Amino acid sequence: MGGGQLGRMLSLSARKMGIQVLAWTGGDRSGAASTADRIIDKPFDDPSALEEFTDSVQAATVEFENLPVETLRKVEERIPLRPGTDAVSICQHREREKNFLAGNGFECAAFRLAHDLDSFAKGLIEIGSSVIVKTAEFGYDGKGQLRITKPLSENQIAEAWEKFDGGRVVIEESISLETELSVLVARDSNGNMVHYDPVENIHRNHILDISMVPARIPQETQRKACETALEIAKSMNYTGMLAVEFFVSSDGRLLVNELAPRPHNSGHHTIDACHCSQFEQQARSTSGIPLGSTKLISPVIMMNLLGDLWEDPLSPPHWSNILKMPGTTLHLYGKREARNGRKMGHLNIMGDCLDDCITKAQAIREELKLPDFS
Ligand code: ADP
Ligand code: MG
Repeated sequence: MGGGQLGRMLSLSARKMGIQVLAWTGGDRSGAASTADRIIDKPFDDPSALEEFTDSVQAATVEFENLPVETLRKVEERIPLRPGTDAVSICQHREREKNFLAGNGFECAAFRLAHDLDSFAKGLIEIGSSVIVKTAEFGYDGKGQLRITKPLSENQIAEAWEKFDGGRVVIEESISLETELSVLVARDSNGNMVHYDPVENIHRNHILDISMVPARIPQETQRKACETALEIAKSMNYTGMLAVEFFVSSDGRLLVNELAPRPHNSGHHTIDACHCSQFEQQARSTSGIPLGSTKLISPVIMMNLLGDLWEDPLSPPHWSNILKMPGTTLHLYGKREARNGRKMGHLNIMGDCLDDCITKAQAIREELKLPDFS
């Protein structure tokens, strides 16, 4: 269910194993439509689409979390949905997600929930001097987020609240970040679990820019992150691919940031650098095939390619000099039109060691006129 680039890559992986894919796009034809065997290009609240979908497939999975919960439930009543409605419902709503994490003892940034001006003002007072306010629903790539540095006057608080249009928000302590990492877990319906090596993530303008493995993070922190991610999957009785994003604060805390009930942008390196990719893992766990090996074959850097790199919406950069570099692969998602901040594709850059990957990645940044990363 879903029509974006994650569905596109899932289809490619599944079809390689002879699994037939039907993508219920919900109307989004940007990615998955061109790689699936068949599509249903109707909205997720269309009863005839639900009928056609559940009559046609043996099991279902999601490639994005913002699906109507009622639709997920109806699908799950008829066929196995992996991950299940409850898990997706938690991950699609920051309020439910925070309550789940805090309620199960997983440490995250201090937060308050707000749904009106009073609770907003109260929450701002209770959380530290710098906060990030996030919409409870439909936020991605930093959209729907507002950083606020206090103190604020009453007017400024009211102005800030207006930006959220009367919705529900999470007010979160702004963390002084040492680094960010993610752990990708796959769990099958019998409870068997595997996880990939932790990924170190660098964001630019709140959008993932670079992922690298092995992460330049102390082993003990990495071990704790893996353990936490497995615990989270287990406590949700999860089936499928789950991504857990973490913050490491400059005072040494490991905090869970957010969850994604699907393959994740920070797992795109697994396509080229691991025995079994996160998409194959999703195809396997959805269809009841045993999980694959997550072993890293090569150090790797994944670099996102945003629409900003396109000279005009229809003119991609020239890739020749980049693809000449050994160990570099290009993945484009087939989106017709580029926009600033839109994820158009990614590069996987492999090398003998991480330093080798970094050197190549910096050369590519120069070629693409992107700033260095550290
Ligand atoms: P999404 O990925 O859905 O846009 P996130 O909550 O993961 O939303 O935020 C995107 C990025 O913004 C994070 O990866 C991090 O770089 C930054 N960020 C978000 N929340 C905080 C926070 N509480 N403290 C510091 N940085 C944050
Ligand atoms: Mg995130």
